[in-house]
Amino acid sequence: MSKVLVIGGGAAGMFAAIAAAENGNEVFLYEKNEKLGKKLFITGKGRCNLTNACDMDTLFASVVSNPRFLYSSFYNYTNQDVIAFFEKAGVATKTERGGRVFPDSDHSSDVIKGLERELKRRNVKVKLHAEVKDIKVRGERFEKLIFTDGNEAEGDCCIVATGGLSYKTTGSTGDGYRFAETMGHTIRPCIPSLVPVETKELWVSELQGLSLRNVEVTVRDGQKKLYQEFGEMLFTHYGVSGPLLLSASSRVGRKLMEKSLTLEIDLKPALDEEALHRRVLRDFEENQNRQFKNAVGRLFPAKLVPVMIQLSGIPPEKKVHVISREERNAFVHLIKHFKVTLTKLRGFDEAIITKGGISTKEINPKTMESKRIKGIYFAGEVLDLDALTGGFNLQIAWSTGYAAGKSIE
Ligand SMILES: Cc1cc2nc3c(=O)[nH]c(=O)nc-3n(C[C@H](O)[C@H](O)[C@H](O)COP(=O)(O)OP(=O)(O)OC[C@H]3O[C@@H](n4cnc5c(N)ncnc54)[C@H](O)[C@@H]3O)c2cc1C
Repeated sequence: MSKVLVIGGGAAGMFAAIAAAENGNEVFLYEKNEKLGKKLFITGKGRCNLTNACDMDTLFASVVSNPRFLYSSFYNYTNQDVIAFFEKAGVATKTERGGRVFPDSDHSSDVIKGLERELKRRNVKVKLHAEVKDIKVRGERFEKLIFTDGNEAEGDCCIVATGGLSYKTTGSTGDGYRFAETMGHTIRPCIPSLVPVETKELWVSELQGLSLRNVEVTVRDGQKKLYQEFGEMLFTHYGVSGPLLLSASSRVGRKLMEKSLTLEIDLKPALDEEALHRRVLRDFEENQNRQFKNAVGRLFPAKLVPVMIQLSGIPPEKKVHVISREERNAFVHLIKHFKVTLTKLRGFDEAIITKGGISTKEINPKTMESKRIKGIYFAGEVLDLDALTGGFNLQIAWSTGYAAGKSIE
């Protein structure tokens, strides 16, 4: 039996504490906030998308950074195990579109309550308002924790589950990176991820609030295709957001830190260029004697019409029957390749996740123990792990938390 000190009462820390206590250890869980799970509370728009009911291949394919590191922890504690855990803890679940699993009640607070019940049942000693300032190491072994109020706590080992840098108000202020760095760990540079993106073109602000469904977006660096996906996106006053762009930020974010990229939107992905030609021609024939600006209303949502007219280069007052074939070709091309320049990721305050963190190379993937310091373990977002939306980031927190807790005896 060991005395285990867990830092951070988020998803990973609570799960690590539960797993460590299940092994018969004496477990202390330290959280600097006045309550546990502040970030969990806001997940899934307050509903908590706690995992994804997909198969294992999809689970790994949804992890963007270091999926191979998760091989052992995902197989040892799968998404099905997570669902079974919560059901047993009195949190009934349901599976929605895309395999997203939520509590039946649609309340993230029920997920937190379920975890609190399990912590209590296993006698985990939860200490709130307990902010760890420092981790002391002696001879490459964990020694003790120092708190900001001057108190100290000694133990056999420590699990660091302090989260990332996004939504600081929930308590995730990146303390774990500092602790790890002091202990000689490498930190992969942290950037916001699953985050909206700013754009260069001034006309984008005119499209604020416009949501485009069933479009295909491609992100390019020059000619090189970096990302392509079909789905839904949103224009904001500063740029672009919505599911497609959040996922894109996760795939191309590091590149975007270096340089601007091109976002190409296919507004009519169901029609190839030939079919779109026929469609535009038909609309033009039906509106032969009208002005161009009054002939394209059926092609786009109303908000987009003025922008498309402006970008087409065709004078808005031009009569449709005098529009040349070249002009029409260019217009069709514009609809299939509507371009916006991506310039910058929005900040951590708007990011769902932090990309980067403690290098997984220096962590044992089976136990989550540091390869540098004995008795120090890491779990959750503090590690250089991140995934797409859909419940996958919480699955990382549960599985790595469980691996850390279970490996301590
Ligand atoms: C708006 C939003 C919505 C999200 N929705 C989803 C979703 O639906 N599904 C999904 O899978 N993922 C979602 N995520 C991502 C998910 O919330 C995180 O991946 C997950 O919470 C990470 O868990 P963690 O335990 O590693 O870190 P955190 O949940 O950040 O927990 C870390 C804890 O450590 C505490 N702490 C930090 N430093 C110290 C210290 N020095 N001393 C003591 N305590 C400390 C913090 O106060 C905090 O409570 C969402 C994220 C955001 C921001």
